[in-house]
Amino acid sequence: MARKQPQRTCTGCKSTRDKRDLLRIVRLPDGELVVDDTGKRAGRGAYVCPDEECLDKAFKTKSLEKTLKEHLPLEVLEKLRADLLAVITEKRRQEELQKLALQPKKRGKL
Ligand SMILES: [Zn+2]
Repeated sequence: MARKQPQRTCTGCKSTRDKRDLLRIVRLPDGELVVDDTGKRAGRGAYVCPDEECLDKAFKTKSLEKTLKEHLPLEVLEKLRADLLAVITEKRRQEELQKLALQPKKRGKL
């Protein structure tokens, strides 16, 4: 009885996934590119899996630029890439913490 989630395509691996499983990149009206973690910001958006490989592919194949219909200067891309990596790292950390919290406390290992 899973509720149907909106589907989006990753600009890296081109696979279609639930929108909420992907990172959204938005081009704001002033031309700035940001990682949209609310998924609600207005602007042209592109999606990528929270995965470094997909990120690399999206950047290398210029798939991201095609999706955003924009030529992006290198420094803009570099900054966006750094932002995305930071988001991915933080996401992983949160997931790890959640996993740890869910685990029964059987061993006091570090
Ligand atoms: Zn992907």
